[in-house]
Amino acid sequence: MSDKIIVIAGAGIAGLTSALALAKYGIKSIILEKNEQIQEFGAGLQLGPNAHRALNLIGLKDDLAKVSFEPEGIDIYSFAGKKPISTLRLGQSARERFGVPYSVIHRADLVQLLYEKTLQTNLIDIKFNITEFFINEINNNKLENLSVSFTDENGVENKINCFAFLGADGVGSTTRTKYLGGTQAKYSGFVAWRALIEMERLENVLNLNNTSLIWGRGFHTVAYPLKSRPVVNIAFFTRETMSVGFGIRQTPNLPPTIKKDERLAKICDCANSWTHWPLAGVSTKIWHKGAIGLIGDAAHAMLPFQAQGAAMGIEDAIILAPLLANEKNAATAFEIYQNKRQKRVAKLSRISKNNALIFHMPPPLSLARNMVVKMQGPLNHFSRLSWIYDFDPTI
Ligand SMILES: Cc1cc2nc3c(=O)[nH]c(=O)nc-3n(C[C@H](O)[C@H](O)[C@H](O)COP(=O)(O)OP(=O)(O)OC[C@H]3O[C@@H](n4cnc5c(N)ncnc54)[C@H](O)[C@@H]3O)c2cc1C
Repeated sequence: MSDKIIVIAGAGIAGLTSALALAKYGIKSIILEKNEQIQEFGAGLQLGPNAHRALNLIGLKDDLAKVSFEPEGIDIYSFAGKKPISTLRLGQSARERFGVPYSVIHRADLVQLLYEKTLQTNLIDIKFNITEFFINEINNNKLENLSVSFTDENGVENKINCFAFLGADGVGSTTRTKYLGGTQAKYSGFVAWRALIEMERLENVLNLNNTSLIWGRGFHTVAYPLKSRPVVNIAFFTRETMSVGFGIRQTPNLPPTIKKDERLAKICDCANSWTHWPLAGVSTKIWHKGAIGLIGDAAHAMLPFQAQGAAMGIEDAIILAPLLANEKNAATAFEIYQNKRQKRVAKLSRISKNNALIFHMPPPLSLARNMVVKMQGPLNHFSRLSWIYDFDPTI
């Protein structure tokens, strides 16, 4: 066992994956989470083969198979189209091509699996209800050794000397803004309206063995079944000039014309409530200062239009752990990690943004787009996206 201790802010996907990846190298971590327990928030996530490959390395393969679902394909519809323009294959074809699945899962189920795994090792200590932490520099302002102070939920003051501090505290990261001089997250102009609908209510509306992607003018909808719950996850993405805050709404602010699409009309009728998610992004080249580093959304929150945000945090964690384990100096570990990660993450962030232009195209451009997608056929996306899905974080 190493004598290094890493303090991590945030018990989300990136923070928990980091702690588990560090434990594989015998490194102890202490996670400071502001909530009083693991958070159930969020809804569906698509986990591409790259995310599976990384999660398998921390021993999640069998558990993931129990709570995730592998859609057979993605049905792409144009607005009010009766039949899919194309059905991109996933399922067995994805397994054969990438050696690992492409699946969908509820975020809460993934976080719960990660959390349960942390309970199986005494190298991970999660402290809940930590509303504030203070990072103090020791060693002549070089930020090479740190101490972190916080008051725990019993009111006891703690001071921990650590090798490194990892900000996995999400899009609104205090680590980024307070300790790395980073900016606040920026509202993207897009919102997601999310709903969960009982599967039986949509059985005759969507093919529930597949994911459905419906492209409209200025919006798109993604729907897939979360079979272990069993509900259909719906995310409707559109533009709103002002971010009016996160919250549950009975009636979403969707364009009235939406009901001209039979599927969308039915989805709207079946949804009992919607959650409004303004989507914000983070763009910074500064992922560390000395021994304080960022990971996951804290470093690079992006639009979810390539379904890779969480996957990037998971990859970050797997890549950073051996560096923190093997380097004598945490700043060096963070520097190597930053150089390894930034190009890939920036490319994904760019592609996610471009997808909004493609998915939301008005006619007549949309007609040309549909033609291209049709001509590309059911398997072309595997080679087009292989740079994402073939990624192996151990190489
Ligand atoms: C609509 C939508 C759809 C998406 N779909 C996909 C998808 O299909 N596939 C995919 O890969 N990604 C997807 N994403 C992105 C994905 O959800 C995020 O990238 C991922 O959840 C980020 O994980 P994280 O651990 O970095 O941050 P978070 O999940 O935000 O976790 C941060 C944690 O830090 C805690 N925290 C915050 N501040 C503090 C503090 N000061 N002190 C202590 N703790 C703190 C929080 O309570 C939380 O537990 C989607 C996102 C959205 C909005």
